[in-house]
This record gives sequence, structure tokens and C-alpha cells, in this order.
Amino acid sequence: GKGAAMVTAVAYRLATQHAERQRILDALRLSREQLMEVKIRMGNEMNRGLAKESHDQAAVKMLPTYVRSTPDGTERGDFLALDLGGTNFRVLLVRVRSGKKRSVEMHNKIYTIPQEAIQGTGEEVHQDDVIHCIAHFHYIFSPNFSVILSLGILLKWTKGFKATGCEGEDVVTLLKDAIHRREEFDLDVVAVVNDTVGTMMTCGYEDPLCEVGLIVGTGTNACYMEEMQNVELVDGDEGRMCVNMEWGAFGDHGELDDFCTDFDRAVDDRSTNPGKQRYEKMISGMYLGEIVRNVLLEFTAKGLLFRGKLSERLKTRGIFETKFLSQIESDRLALRQVRSILQHLGLTSSTCDDSILVKEVCSVVARRAAQLCGAGLAAVVDKIRQNRNLDKLKITVGVDGTLYKLHPHFSSIMHETVRDLSPLCEVTFLQSEDGSGKGAALITAVACRIRDAGQH
Ligand code: BGC
Repeated sequence: GKGAAMVTAVAYRLATQHAERQRILDALRLSREQLMEVKIRMGNEMNRGLAKESHDQAAVKMLPTYVRSTPDGTERGDFLALDLGGTNFRVLLVRVRSGKKRSVEMHNKIYTIPQEAIQGTGEEVHQDDVIHCIAHFHYIFSPNFSVILSLGILLKWTKGFKATGCEGEDVVTLLKDAIHRREEFDLDVVAVVNDTVGTMMTCGYEDPLCEVGLIVGTGTNACYMEEMQNVELVDGDEGRMCVNMEWGAFGDHGELDDFCTDFDRAVDDRSTNPGKQRYEKMISGMYLGEIVRNVLLEFTAKGLLFRGKLSERLKTRGIFETKFLSQIESDRLALRQVRSILQHLGLTSSTCDDSILVKEVCSVVARRAAQLCGAGLAAVVDKIRQNRNLDKLKITVGVDGTLYKLHPHFSSIMHETVRDLSPLCEVTFLQSEDGSGKGAALITAVACRIRDAGQH
């Protein structure tokens, strides 16, 4: 009768809604073939970035770091490292011991840099704030440095940092000049260290097979030991050099257009750097929440979520932080709790079905991020294997970053992807503990070790 017809109509409507939702989510699901294609394109871009003639046009810059070796345990000395990330600025005193007492000991102090300075000109950040912090640190610890200041500044100009007049400039020179002008203390500024390199060096101190550094946090990037003969921007063919890939820019010349969705384009359009860091915008913590929000907006607009009611909260940029993605996908979390998280975000009209869907969106977006990251990493380890003419490569990747460390599934999906796309590489993943400052000191320690060996 009539009742049965209504039940059928409802069932039909639910089925079409389900199909519609899945159709939208399918755009965010990548096949194995697509991931393999990402790996191949990343490999090509790496070669283009390394080669002199194509470097200027390449999206992936493959920057030489002048770091020529990972630690071998004989390093020693006291080093001062500066770590500038987010709004915190850390000054670290790092003591590296060799021999029986082989260890790395650290003392640090965190300073907060006012937001205005970060958004202002580069000169302001460096001269007034950074130097002041070093002077203060110097005053408290009065360290007796053996020779060198290791400057481990994590330059994040692509995220949050809008400081003008600094990008591309020689930060080492800027700082040296500034320290000189103050005439309070004298330090020798040695190196500017990217966080990926710091991570590789920190993990390399524990594991000699660690020749790749990876960050998956607010941003994403990787570095690895490349053959000198392939690093065409630097003279010499002997040995290896660590290359800071700046792989976040992969896709900036259209390499990822085949895999991008309208959601990615919306996130990119409304970002502070449209058209830039396209790969990073599909992977890292700073953007995943925004992708999720854009998917939820579409679902709601189509009447597939939140009873079709677009709340003001949902229209607000940045409401989903990285930790939200990790929380909502935590396996122990019941749907009731998902709902309370949504309520907490001001998305009050949610039903149980809504919670299931929101969780699914988070899971699809995070999976794609982990797979894309894995595809890139697969290209890196396979390149190292081919460089060395090996049938099988055993290698360790040092990793840092909140998304990798805190998300319940990101790391395992990424590992699985690397294994799948580069089966001839046996990859071990090692999490770095407090990598940046320690890594900066170790880089200097290794440089000193090599220099001293040359003098004898
Ligand atoms: C920066 C890289 C950095 C990475 C990870 C990116 O946004 O461009 O230099 O290594 O974030 O923090």
C-alpha cells in the first residue's frame, strides 16, 4: 500500500544521496596507477631541478645544502643553534660528545616573537628580535663556544611568515652584520639549516643508514643525500651532498593538475600564496582542514549534510585545525564524540549520519595526503637506489612533524604506499626527537670534523 511506497521512496532517496556523496568523494580517491604517475612525475622534476639547464624552470628546486656527510659519531664540541619556527624562537646550546661518552646534550630557551614582527619586514625580525634573543641567551648561559655558531633557522616564509625583503636573501650575511653592529659578542655564523636536514642529521646520529629527512607537519618537505655529480649547481663530482628538495612546490607548474579537485583549487585560491606550494597544499596539516571544510560546504550546499543548513561556522576559514583531523579519526572515538567535536565547532545541527560522513571525509582527505606523500618519497628512495646501481636498497628516513606523529593513520598509509610503489627499497622510518636545533648543531659538528680531518 501507501506505506510500502513511502518506504521505497525513502530508501530510494537515501540510496541516491549515498551515491551522490560517494561520487563527490571519488574525486579525492587516487588509484594505484595515479599514484605511480605521481611518483614518476616527481622523479622527473627532481632531475629537472638538479640539472643546470632546467633548474630555473623546475618547480622542485633541489637546493644544494653543502652538507656532505651524515654524522659518524666522532663529532664533538659546543654549538649554539637558533631555531625559528612558527611564533617561537628557540636558542639552544648543544654539547656533542664523542667516544665512550658519545651523546648530544641540549639546553634551550624559548622566546616569543611578536606577531607584528613576523608579518613585518625581514630586517625587523632578524635585527631586533633574533639578535636580542641571542644576546639574552648569551647573558644567561655565558657559553664558551668552541669556534662556531651554528645557525639553524627554519625559514618558513611560505607559511605564516610574510616578512618582506628576506626571501631568497642571504640570511647568514644579514645575521652576521646584525651581530657585528651590536658589538656585544662575536660569533661565527656557519650555516642556515632547513628543518628536513636537521631531522636527517638528528636521526643519522642514531642510525647511519638515515640518508633522507622528511617533514610532514604544518608544511611538508624532504631532503636526501644525492651524488655530487648529479648536483650540477655545485662544482665537483666526488662524494655526496644533501639536497633540500623543497618538494612542497611540486605541482606549481601543473604537474598535479590531473589529480587536483575543485576543493584543492578553492583552498589554493584563498590562500596567502595562490599557485604556490600545490603539493604541500594537498598534504600538510595547514591545509587538510581547509580541504575538509570545502568538501563539507559542498555536501551541505547539495543538501547532503547538516540538513542542508550552511552555518556561519562552516563558512569560516581555518576552523578545522590539524589536531581536529587526528582527533576525529582516532579509532577509539565513538560517533557520539565526533558529534560533540562538531558541536564544539559550532556545527550544532548534526545527526548521527552527519558524524559518519564527516569522519569519512576526514579519512578520505588524510588518506590521499598520506598516499601523495608516499608517492613522492617512493621517487626519492628509488632515485637513491638507482644512483647507487643497487638491486635492493636498505635505507632509513628520519621523520618529524605533527601530522606524521599525531595522526592515527597517516604514517601507516604512507609507509604502505612507499612499499607498494618502490618495492626494491627496504625503508625504515625513524622519528626524530627535537630534530631542528640538534640537527643544526650536528651539521656544524660534522663540518668541523671534516675540516679538522683535512687539516691533519
Ligand atoms: C617550507 C620548507 C620546510 C617545510 C617543512 C615548507 O613550507 O617551504 O622549507 O622544510 O615547510 O617545515
